[in-house]
Amino acid sequence: MKRVCTDCGRTSPTAGPWRCSCGSPLALQALPRLPATPPALDRDAGLWACDGFVPVARQVTLGEGWTPLIDSERGIQYKLEHLFPTGSFKDRGAAVVISRAVERGADRVLEDSSGNAGLAIATYAARAGIDAEIFVPSDATPSKIRAIEGTGATVRQIDGSRRAVTDACIGAVERGDGYYASHAWDPLFLAGTATFALEVLAQRDWTAPDAVVTPLGHGTLFLGAEQGFQRLYRAGWIDSLPRCYGVQASGVAPIAAARGNERDAARNDVADGIQIADPVRRRQILDAIETTVGDAIAVTAGETERAHERLRGEGLVVEPTSATAVAGVARLRERGAIADGEDVVVPLTGRNGTTIR
Ligand SMILES: [Zn+2]
Repeated sequence: MKRVCTDCGRTSPTAGPWRCSCGSPLALQALPRLPATPPALDRDAGLWACDGFVPVARQVTLGEGWTPLIDSERGIQYKLEHLFPTGSFKDRGAAVVISRAVERGADRVLEDSSGNAGLAIATYAARAGIDAEIFVPSDATPSKIRAIEGTGATVRQIDGSRRAVTDACIGAVERGDGYYASHAWDPLFLAGTATFALEVLAQRDWTAPDAVVTPLGHGTLFLGAEQGFQRLYRAGWIDSLPRCYGVQASGVAPIAAARGNERDAARNDVADGIQIADPVRRRQILDAIETTVGDAIAVTAGETERAHERLRGEGLVVEPTSATAVAGVARLRERGAIADGEDVVVPLTGRNGTTIR
């Protein structure tokens, strides 16, 4: 499957480089055509429940997919993404990216992430019998490093900024040390997270919610979900597109700032999982907001902590970063962006790192 640059429009072959020669990220071109009405889905096939939806054959699985969608108060439904095998929605992307790595005959994958993406890639690589090398900041939480090492992956701790970690990983990719299984750069990761949209709609009997509110760092869930909704809307499986809202951590909220919505610059370190100063797919995220008539906002540490407490009170034990989206719904209702009585779907994205620090 060909890939196209999200900036200059040049195409790259399937087995080509991991980014465009202009330096921008790639998107998949011409995904398989879907039938005019939803077919019967085979839920035992997990993310591969719908023929042609995921553009890579399943080569590796840990039984991921079809997380529960449960009702909360006032029209909110939570999708329990923290119940995935490695504890976050990142398994959607990792299962697909590692399946492609298997097809390509990779014997070593490289990734840079100190959090859930690194753990998901390392775990699925282990499942596929592929070596993994994960680059992390040297000040990453010891428990996260131990979790990644527990899969048998090699962890490379890099001093300096988050940028230095990515540069070290890219250096290894350019030297030919391994296949770049990148959650931020590989468009197949988004093809995996797009299954979030397929599942939500199937679980709602093909009725789109009015809004979907997700945490927003690199935008791997936000963009995958939006692309999935777009695809099913174009196929005619739903009558309307949900408005897509992304919620960032105050102080590190480039998309909310670009939308003129960063009102509090104090750093929200409770939501450490989405502190991405320079998201790789910034332009695509802003386009997705425009297309779906959504928005991006930033929430404070206090708002995140209160939402986290509220979730615990409902029996939902998730990582604090997950609570940003719940805090975001409250804020969006307060602003009138989401009206009372509107249907909202919120993913609870992770269960790793459940201690507030
Ligand atoms: Zn380009």
